[in-house]
This record gives sequence, structure tokens and C-alpha cells, in this order.
Amino acid sequence: MQQRHIRYCRKCVMPETKPDLRIDEGGVCNACRSYENRKIVDWDQRKKEFLSVVERYRSKDGSNYDCIIPVSGGKDSHYQVMKLLELGFNPLCVNATTCQLSGIGRRNIENLKKRGVDYVEITINPKVRAKINRIGLLQVGDMSWPEHLTIFTIPPRMAVQFGVPLLIWGENPQNEYGGPASDMESNVLTRRWLEEFGGLIGMRVTDLIGQDGLEAKHLIQFTYPSDEELRRVGVTGVFMGYYFPWDGYHNALFAQAHGLETLPIAIEGSLVNYENLDNVQTGIHDYFKYLKFGFCRVTDLACLHLRRGRLSRDEAISIVKQRDGKFPWTYLGYPIQDVLKQIDMDLEEFIRICDRFTNKKLFKCDSRGNLVKDRHGNLTKINDDNVD
Ligand SMILES: [Zn+2]
Repeated sequence: MQQRHIRYCRKCVMPETKPDLRIDEGGVCNACRSYENRKIVDWDQRKKEFLSVVERYRSKDGSNYDCIIPVSGGKDSHYQVMKLLELGFNPLCVNATTCQLSGIGRRNIENLKKRGVDYVEITINPKVRAKINRIGLLQVGDMSWPEHLTIFTIPPRMAVQFGVPLLIWGENPQNEYGGPASDMESNVLTRRWLEEFGGLIGMRVTDLIGQDGLEAKHLIQFTYPSDEELRRVGVTGVFMGYYFPWDGYHNALFAQAHGLETLPIAIEGSLVNYENLDNVQTGIHDYFKYLKFGFCRVTDLACLHLRRGRLSRDEAISIVKQRDGKFPWTYLGYPIQDVLKQIDMDLEEFIRICDRFTNKKLFKCDSRGNLVKDRHGNLTKINDDNVD
């Protein structure tokens, strides 16, 4: 097989294989360019804009909530909630629960409620969810497909149901992680955004009907509200990351000061101990990103810290090489066999699916074109930095 070297951004360690990432003539990626632009943003002005938006939607007589905050119970949710309370608003928190909520995830949700907010939680029928986890993994290599969809469909559904038009999201993931330029400055989340970036990756909700006994009635919460419903309530959403200089580490410090529980050591397949604590399937989700694109969570985090001057590029390369993309034997301490049992799959079948979704152009193969794995099942990337 013809292999060529993977190209990386010269400033951070992001590979060109990341969907929607572009590396310019100067060898720098659009996420780094976008981060540079933060220096010229007038953040005081942005904060004023934020206040004026939320003020406009505030319940005039206190008979309803001022806004909805979609929350998971993690570091960013804590920051969003505390910030809105500090600014004097009365939010309703809406949580679309994860595919397999961990113990620490549940404790952090309880901690979030205690900050002093009303809170609702929607949990998809676990039997339906397990079927869709399995279909997602088999068909598009994404076990977390149901989670990544419902975190974007359930809050607007609740906005319609409760008659609260304003949704306050956290970060626009396209902003720092690099996406098409036209969407970089976008501060609102629309149906179009959801369809393009919201994690559907080529599988639509309607494709599920008829598979494994799934019917439309099982998929209510997976469906975005109709245009008519959205118009009637006037639903709109803003990304807080547009108005405040977003930094996950900052939010984690803030959240920990308010009781967020973290792990004693860095999470498997990650670089830190303070995020993605609420779903035991996340290790598998992240690993598939590695198989398809040659990078996962450690690279994402190394880039975030590198741009903020907390790691040098050489340090980031060595950390990525050491920790990124390891076979997800455990996640948050849960063995992979236990996680797979939930979707009626054994390890052998899982490994076959992994191999099917692996982009062989990115990893070392033997002379017969078979993937080279070490005794722990780990792959080796063809190159970890630019090759001249
Ligand atoms: Zn970059």
C-alpha cells in the first residue's frame, strides 16, 4: 500500500487528517489561527453583548425560567451555571444523560444541582440506546452516536416544552478545534449546524427505523423540534465560548473549587483528570477517532494547553506519542469487556470492527499489509511529527 507521511500543524500537534482542519501556506492550522485572533477580541465588549442577549430573554415577571443551560455535570456545566447565577439569572438546567453514566459522573451531577438550580434529566430507554450504540459502532464506527445526537436534540425539545426560548451552550467546538471559516465566528447553534457538525457522521435518525426492531416511537428524543415549534417559542441558542475566552482548564479549576470531583490520576487515553468523567463508553469512542484519523483526546488536549503556553511543542509531541490512541482496555477503571457486554458484543468481534475502521495509511503495516500491533494491541503511527 502506498503510504505518505502525515503532515502536522507547525505550531500545534494537530494532524491534517482531522476533519475540517486546514493547514495554510505557513504550515499553521485554522484552529491556531483562530486562537491568535482571540488576542484582538474586546472581551469586555463581548461580555456586555452577552448580558444584553440574556437580559432580552429574561422572564419579565419571574413566572418562567430566563434560559436553559444544557448540562452534563462536568467542568464546563459547572462554570456555565455558576456564571449565570452570579450574573443574577434563573436558568433551568437540562441534562441528556450519557450512554453509560459512571459513578463519578452521577456524583458531579448531584454537586451541580446543589449550586442552586432547577434541573431536569432525560434518559433514553436503555434497551433502545444499547441497540443504537451497537448499530453506531458497526455502521459508522461510533458507539457514542446516540449521545452526540441527543445532547443537541433534547435541550431544544425542552425549550419548546417549557416555553423557554434561550439556550446557553458552552463552547462552539468548531471554534477552537478548527472548522470551516464561515462558522468560526458563529455564536448560535442552528439545525444546519447540528446537521453539519453535530456528530451525525453520515447516519440519520430515519436510517434507524426498521433496524433491530426500532420504530419511530423509540426515537422521539432523537428528533429535533419542527421549524413550526421552534418558531412558536422563538427558540434560539448562543455559545458562551463566543462571549468569554473559553479554557477548559480554567473551568476545571473553577468547578473544582465548587465541589467537582476529579480522578486521582489522568484518565486512560487522556492527558488530564478533570473531563469526560461521565460516560464509561468514551474510551471506545475516542479510540475510534484514533483509528480513523490518527489522533484522539491526548492530541486535542495537548493542543489546547500548547496554545495557552502550558506545554512546548516538543513536550506535546512526546506526550502524544506516549499516551494517545492506546487500546481502551479500561476507561475510568471499567474493563472494556463490561462495557461491551452492554451492547452484546465480545472482545473478538470488537477487535474485528476496530480493524475494519482503521485507516491503514496512517499506521505501520507489515509486508503483507496487515496492521502491526504490540502485545497490548497498540498500533504505531507512521510518523509523529513533520518529515522534511
Ligand atoms: Zn495548529
